[in-house]
Amino acid sequence: MILVTGGAGYIGSHIVRQLCLKKEKVLVVDNLSKGHKKAVDTGAKLIVGDFGDENLLKEIFKKYDIQAVIHLAAQSLVGESMVQPEKYFEENIGKTLSMLKVMLKANVKKIVFSSTAAVYGEPETWPITEDFPHKPTNVYGYSKLVIEQCLEWYRQIHGFNYVSLRYFNAAGADPAGDIGEDHNPETHLIPLIFKVILGEQDELTVFGTDYPTPDGTCIRDYIHVNDLAEAHILALNKLNKDESGVYNLGNQKGFSVKEIINVAEEVTGVKVKVRYGQRRPGDPAVLVASSEKIQKELNFSPQFGDIKTIVLTAWKWHKNNPRGYDR
Ligand code: UDP
Repeated sequence: MILVTGGAGYIGSHIVRQLCLKKEKVLVVDNLSKGHKKAVDTGAKLIVGDFGDENLLKEIFKKYDIQAVIHLAAQSLVGESMVQPEKYFEENIGKTLSMLKVMLKANVKKIVFSSTAAVYGEPETWPITEDFPHKPTNVYGYSKLVIEQCLEWYRQIHGFNYVSLRYFNAAGADPAGDIGEDHNPETHLIPLIFKVILGEQDELTVFGTDYPTPDGTCIRDYIHVNDLAEAHILALNKLNKDESGVYNLGNQKGFSVKEIINVAEEVTGVKVKVRYGQRRPGDPAVLVASSEKIQKELNFSPQFGDIKTIVLTAWKWHKNNPRGYDR
């Protein structure tokens, strides 16, 4: 059985669905602070609780035959992390360390860890390879880097195997259209564009038009959430070979904010009302992954690499669920 923390969240729910499709037994632990019960595949078992609750985890490891953990549960708002760093130290570092302690006691030594491109900070060149300097410019990225480094010590000292996946920009939704992105508050570009298109929000603010990029707006590497999910399954295979590794997870292609707006307009046939605003603090100009390592070592091959497909699948979800799961 695979334990997925945060399995009711946007990325987690897509991973859980892919695991269930592959007939894996899946146990989700999610406190539903951000996740949604309805997002969890009916083939998985959901325990509503906090992954940082040591007693709960001890019980779970006693009761279920857990082979590996996919650890997604975390706080992930960059802006918030710079206002309340203590929350990120406690939630992302403290609770993960206590979970690792319980895993060690239970002799479960395989973990896929969801990390982030934010560990690189603001690199001046791209594509970004895994050996670029680790210089996070926000507490969120720092909190993920600390756990990556702890996992490496756990590997050397306790014989753990881990795969850290450094996500670039997760986007899109399962083509079925019944699970997708639903954050409250929403801060991500693609769902915000659709909120404007669906009349849930008046306009979209583009954060900065004076970046050193061809059209002046930030460039990001968007990866479809189902491709991201598939990478987690490849990571589990690697753990089963008693191997560890750290990988970027992106598409190796960059799109500016303006280009994403254009794609959304093309896909929906609706013009997006845009306001050009100031830069958002902490946003690097360009973040584009090199995906060579994961392609070579894990045979990762994205199925939804085309940006139009990514945006179209997101549109299907938002159109069907303009107010998300519950609202
Ligand atoms: N962005 C924007 N307006 C918004 C939200 C995001 O211009 O209302 C830009 C943001 O500055 C970044 C890109 O869109 O360059 C992607 O942002 P998102 O928050 O989706 O992901 P991030 O790159 O921060 O992980």
